[in-house]
Amino acid sequence: MTEFDRMWAEILPVGRDGGTGGYRRFAWTRDDHTLREWFAGECAQRGLDLTEDRMGNQWAWWGDPDAAPGVVIGSHLDSVPDGGAYDGPLGVVSALAVIDALRADGFAPTVPLGVVNFVDEEGARFGVACAGSRVITGAMTADRALGLKDADGRTMAEALETAGRRTDIGRDDETLRRIGTFVELHVEQGRALADLDPATSAVAVGTDIWPHGRWRIDFAGEANHAGTTRLEDRHDAMLGYAQTVLAARTVAQQRGCVATMGKVVVDPNGVNAIPSRVTGWLDARGPVDHDVRRAVADVTEAAEQHGGTVAEESWTGATTFDPALAQRMRDLLGGGAPMLGTGAGHDAGILANAGISTGMLYVRNPTGVSHSPEEFAEAADCHTGVEALATVVRGLAS
Ligand SMILES: [Zn+2]
Repeated sequence: MTEFDRMWAEILPVGRDGGTGGYRRFAWTRDDHTLREWFAGECAQRGLDLTEDRMGNQWAWWGDPDAAPGVVIGSHLDSVPDGGAYDGPLGVVSALAVIDALRADGFAPTVPLGVVNFVDEEGARFGVACAGSRVITGAMTADRALGLKDADGRTMAEALETAGRRTDIGRDDETLRRIGTFVELHVEQGRALADLDPATSAVAVGTDIWPHGRWRIDFAGEANHAGTTRLEDRHDAMLGYAQTVLAARTVAQQRGCVATMGKVVVDPNGVNAIPSRVTGWLDARGPVDHDVRRAVADVTEAAEQHGGTVAEESWTGATTFDPALAQRMRDLLGGGAPMLGTGAGHDAGILANAGISTGMLYVRNPTGVSHSPEEFAEAADCHTGVEALATVVRGLAS
């Protein structure tokens, strides 16, 4: 068993739902705490110096991080509701395994090497993805982050306090200065690699992330009896919501985008009660900024026609990873690695937009399924991913 396999097996049970087999590793919960402690333990075992930035992202350093801008690898350990095992943890576990591989070779890095575990990447609880990297780069203000509410109406400020974490969060220039280059390894969240030549497509180099965002759409109605209220007397909040879901699908097709309304909250949520309030969330993405913007404008118009109000929760424009770094990584990997764009957001995208030289490696996902308990990658491909990341770090840190 490799160190990778041991670490993988250790975290596999944490936050796993017994019924669905999916993961519920939400930020600042007990499972999140368990994973952070596990990460700290692995870093301590390796003699890495662990620090936390102003948002609680964990950074483990081999070498003095203030000696020179370092090469940082890593990802996140949190999950979406009923997420898979690979999205995030594959990058963190691989990064730790890379440290082992480099040391086994007697490699002496010429710059500090860092391993990061970003907090709250999925935004499963407070609705904004990549909260950890957004706050430290200033892409999201502390006030906005602290005021975000979860489904129970608890604010992020309260969640931080309950978890015993610092609440004086904010932009962290000291941390940002330490990142010379950031490379995030991640399971692919689509089928692009699985469709290529199996001999050369276990690992790809990332090129860009599609523009993407989230919008909250509220519909107000009036609760009443499902049996005694005449159809013409009803104010049914569900009808406007349903029209908007259908509009989102049509508009996405017209604009060459993807649109998803996968989360909905209904009041009073009774089978025999007319809905008095429906809140739905739109996730929209696509290859071209203005197409996504126009699609969202069209959905907004449809929602407003049916009495809805739309509020933007997050927006991240098109992200291009450092092209020179992408080419360098491809060369280091022998020149044949596929180059891949993606519709999935990552902390790497937030750091890239903050002006940091950033790249990504994707590990093949045979079914392409992600954000689901079915998410999978072959063990052999995961090991190839570790080797590829080690090769890249060796090249960048010597
Ligand atoms: Zn992820």
